[in-house]
Amino acid sequence: MRLLLVEDDSELTRLLLPDLERAGYAVDTADNGEDGCFLGESETYDAVILDLGLPRINGLEVLGRWRKNQRTMPVLILTARDTWHEKVQGLKAGADDYLTKPFHPEELLARIQALIRRSHGQLDSMIQSASLTLDEEHQTVLCESGQPIELTGTEFRLLRYFMLNSGKLLSKTRLTEHIYDQDFDRDSNLIEVYVRRLRDKIGRQFIETRRGQGYVFKDL
Ligand code: CA
Repeated sequence: MRLLLVEDDSELTRLLLPDLERAGYAVDTADNGEDGCFLGESETYDAVILDLGLPRINGLEVLGRWRKNQRTMPVLILTARDTWHEKVQGLKAGADDYLTKPFHPEELLARIQALIRRSHGQLDSMIQSASLTLDEEHQTVLCESGQPIELTGTEFRLLRYFMLNSGKLLSKTRLTEHIYDQDFDRDSNLIEVYVRRLRDKIGRQFIETRRGQGYVFKDL
């Protein structure tokens, strides 16, 4: 899952990044509205965390531009305390959720997870696809037999992306973009290695290879 964090408070960004990365998100950051607006229009994100008080272009304007340009990714806005009207304006401008500063990182993570799940039509508290259930908190997967299987960080990121996009043809490039950080050396051959490891853990039947095209996670 790839997130965009638009926040001009560098201290807050510095605090949030490790938590977001531990939760298995590749995160791009922008510290002003202009750069944030550009990234949100040019890259594909699974969710965006958008501060409203931003230099150059304010958050409401950024959100308005995205929605006008048919950018439909889930957006959670960050608002200052006691500014109820900002929340209302944000929701009217197309925000999906909001958090008031100060907040606990755990709450942000829970809301982001819920937003991403819902945007993929998952209504339960855990991601389910095929006969598998993904436990995002413990980064494990439950098979039909009920025994939790431990996943490494990368296996977890990959499986989560597969399960939320089951039935879709996913190219190695797309998988790489949604699994690794921007500065990571994006070697899409590594995806083959991780797919093989995932198959060894969860069974071969779930991930189908389409030669020269990518993979399809089958909702069996
Ligand atoms: Ca701010």
